[in-house]
Parts: sequence; C-alpha cells; structure tokens
Amino acid sequence: MARRFMIAGNWKMYKTVAESREFVEQLSGQFSATAGLIVVVFPPFTALAALRGLDPKVGIGAQNVFYEEKGAFTGEIAPLMLQGLAEYVLVGHSERREIFHESDADVNKKLLAALKFGLRPVLCVGETLPEREAGRTLERINDQLHRGLEGAQAADWEKITVAYEPIWAIGTGRNATPAQAQEVHRHIAGLLREKAPGSAVQILYGGSVKPENSLELLSQADISGVLVGGASLKVESFSAIIHSGLKLLSA
Ligand code: PEP
Repeated sequence: MARRFMIAGNWKMYKTVAESREFVEQLSGQFSATAGLIVVVFPPFTALAALRGLDPKVGIGAQNVFYEEKGAFTGEIAPLMLQGLAEYVLVGHSERREIFHESDADVNKKLLAALKFGLRPVLCVGETLPEREAGRTLERINDQLHRGLEGAQAADWEKITVAYEPIWAIGTGRNATPAQAQEVHRHIAGLLREKAPGSAVQILYGGSVKPENSLELLSQADISGVLVGGASLKVESFSAIIHSGLKLLSA
C-alpha cells in the first residue's frame, strides 16, 4: 500500500484564539495539499470555532472529550458538542492519564463515545521510564491497546489512529531512537492486524519530535506519522516536519 503520513500538532494549553488563528493562516502558505498527507492541529477547546473552515488542508482536532453525552459534569465537553468543530480527538494522552488520573477504562469510554458521534479518535499509548527499564514496554502497550480499543467494531477502524508516545520522551527533548520507536510500532502494527484484519490504522510516533529527527523517524517502515508537542507551536518547525513527510511521499 502507498505510504500515508499524518503530521499532527498537539498545542496543549498554549495559544489564545488569536494566536491559533494566526498560526493556521501562516501554516497555510507553507505546504500544498498532497495525496497521502494529513495535517491536523489540536488547539485548546477555546480556539476550535475560530479555526473552523480556515484551511481545508489543515484538519482540526480536540485534545480531550468526556464520555457522557450530557449532564451535570461541570467543565467537561461532550462529543456532540465537538461535532462541526473538530474532526479528530485525542484520547488517553499521557498528560491526561498522569495528571488527571484517567484510567484505561476511562480512555476506552472516551474512544467509544467519540466514535459514536462520528469523531476520529487518536488513541495515545506509551510506557513510563521504569516500565521500559524493567523490560515491560510491550506488555504495557498491549494492555493499553487491548483495554483502550475494547468494543471497537469493524466499521470503526478506518476512523481510529494510534499514537505511540513513550512517556519518558514527551517534552523531555529525549526522543526514542528511530530503532526503538520502530520496534514498538512493528509490534503495534502486528497487534492491530490481529484485531482489525485488513484495516490500515495509522500509527504515529510522539515524543520530542523535531525537524532534526522527523525524517529519520518517518522513514521507519511502521511509523505512519508523528504527534508533535513542543515543535508544533512554531510554524517554522511544524512546517519543517510536514516537509519531512512530503519528502518521503515524493521519494
Ligand atoms: C505530545 O504532547 O504529545 C508530545 C509528544 O510532546 P513533545 O513533542 O513536546 O514531546
């Protein structure tokens, strides 16, 4: 199958509405729509409406969603509320798991709720440093994937993306080496082939991706995109990462 890349930027709790808009306006001029390339930004909730329809080649995603459909859940956002504002949604980002104590069961409920309302969930999984050092990386990934994807139906797979983000590499400047990342991606690809035969779920790598390492990471056989935090906050660096993907698509 021809290669496809998703280049996604998670802005976390950065950027006002005006800054978000300005970013997408500037990014627009930096690349052309290209077969096989999907670019998505995940701004804070507050900027979603301002980015709607700004540039069809820049997809929009939310950083989180609640699993209930409505009710007394102060501060939460229901999947229905995202319809028309976001196409994608992150579920299970390690900051949500670690800081806000989201369990695999919560993440699974969010994934299923997102699917029910037509959103495309990006399920984030990844091991801690102690888990890696104890040789438990693949076991942890298996667990997060089995629990996180429980209940997904055949028709859902084309909407699902998986992001492998080793926690020790997020925001630390210390990325997994391309070989370390590829080893886990190959494992995830095998597991997804068993769970969803015939589907082609994209598997993104995340963790200190920057222009300097993006080409080598994207060159790995089972890496079909990147989820970028820090380096997605500047048009220059995010666009350079998009161009790494474009270079490989045109090779
Ligand atoms: C992330 O937030 O998903 C991430 C990978 O962050 P960073 O690129 O800054 O490590």
